Amino acid sequence: MKKHHSYITAVAALVLALGGGLFVANLRSAEATAKTAHFARPAQSPVAPKSSAVDLNLFSAMADERVVDAVKNDLATCQAALNAAGVVFKQVANVQEGQCGYQDAIEVKASLTELTPNPGAPEHLPMTCDLAARLHMWERHIVIPAAEKYLGSPVKEIKAFGTFQCRNVADTDKLSEHAYAKAADIASFVLADGREISVLEDFYGKDAKGDFLREVRQRACDLFDVTLGPDYNEAHRNHFHLDVGGDHACR
Ligand SMILES: [Zn+2]
Repeated sequence: MKKHHSYITAVAALVLALGGGLFVANLRSAEATAKTAHFARPAQSPVAPKSSAVDLNLFSAMADERVVDAVKNDLATCQAALNAAGVVFKQVANVQEGQCGYQDAIEVKASLTELTPNPGAPEHLPMTCDLAARLHMWERHIVIPAAEKYLGSPVKEIKAFGTFQCRNVADTDKLSEHAYAKAADIASFVLADGREISVLEDFYGKDAKGDFLREVRQRACDLFDVTLGPDYNEAHRNHFHLDVGGDHACR
């Protein structure tokens, strides 16, 4: 019996060893093929290959790092993605104000909803293409469905306190992402039926308005690098700060 066992063990070990060897051999040959194929290709231009088109309509685009990288790092891809998603925008002149400023920024003229300045806010809302693309995905995949789910009405307008402002993060000496037009401060949402849901008035409401606001803030964290709201501090009691500056926070 003992003999029999050790025989089986030996056979099993042999099979494993052979299998492992084959696996490694396969890997090696795949590597070799890849190398051969690489050198067999015609000479390529040193320019990075054009990234494939990005479809902001796809819900899966939100979690796809390639999409995030493409809209962040490739202006042409980002603008093409906005065009393909039906976002109407115009390019705005570059601005440099001391250490603040932006290049290749756009102003969104029409998306699924209107993005408008809150009363008293600056008239223009320039933003990087990357920010516009993520705002569009937020609007399309999160804000509009949540409004329909909780409030039974689509959103027709999103009001913002602003995007570009040459200033530091409150109580620090670090420039805010607003200094580069990479951040938007969202104040309220106007529904097609006329109701206005405001971060200041409704965020902590124990009703559908509060549920809506808390959901769109929480899920913004999946899209934006930094998402801050009334839970974060007093300075954010009346808006959601959404930015694409590359830091990470969800509060
Ligand atoms: Zn902000």
